[in-house]
Amino acid sequence: MTGHQQKKKQKTKSSTGAAQDKIRRCLLSQAERELIFQRLAAAHPHPQSELNFKNPFELLCAVVLSAQATDASVNKATPALFAAAPDAGSMAALGEEKIASYIKTIGLWHAKASYLAKLSQSLVDHYGGEVPADYSKLIKLPGVGSKTAKVVLNVAFGQSTVAVDTHIFRVANRTGLCLGKNAREVEEHIVYYIPPAYLKEAHHYLLLHGRYVCKALKPDCAGCLLSSVCRSHQEAGLQPLNMRKGSASS
Ligand code: SF4
Repeated sequence: MTGHQQKKKQKTKSSTGAAQDKIRRCLLSQAERELIFQRLAAAHPHPQSELNFKNPFELLCAVVLSAQATDASVNKATPALFAAAPDAGSMAALGEEKIASYIKTIGLWHAKASYLAKLSQSLVDHYGGEVPADYSKLIKLPGVGSKTAKVVLNVAFGQSTVAVDTHIFRVANRTGLCLGKNAREVEEHIVYYIPPAYLKEAHHYLLLHGRYVCKALKPDCAGCLLSSVCRSHQEAGLQPLNMRKGSASS
């Protein structure tokens, strides 16, 4: 076999593997996926972040503060914090200790105060105090991981990113839209299964559905818009797949 033939064979094998991987991860047909997003879009015609912010900098800070905390707890603390430090320069100047005094009602406040001080300084040092609309730059900022970067790109800059949090992870696995053992696996693959027309808002549709309907402990399957296509519902009556005895919880 010539080198060219070997390369061609390897290429065919790897693209077949990728295709099989996609098939294994999604249990829904294209029509069912379309239906899911049609219904979610109808239910949430103007989906918005539930965090309060006025600009990309405030959003970035609010998303960092929201890790393992509720949006409501962040919204209670941020008005006073942003009044004292409305931009990256003033937040860096405020410093970790004073930032901490504004956010002590939020979980992990100590680490988060440090992140806000450091990421603000980094924005001043490298980006003229502005939040970059660039994934590779955002994830280099202190306290900013893939999920935070994707939320900021989606909400502040209108990019079609899908950040997978605990709610989206749960809905993706329960419905059969995208199976994965962890958020990273789902985040890597879910964009392949979302119809392009819905990609921009998919993050909010899935998040809101997980937060208010497909809840972790008591999903409202009886009142769910997706029950006719949801694989957990079809296969286990009212008991979602990941809540059956012996299965991993999300
Ligand atoms: S039918 Fe139940 S498990 Fe399926 S998406 Fe709706 S609430 Fe979640």
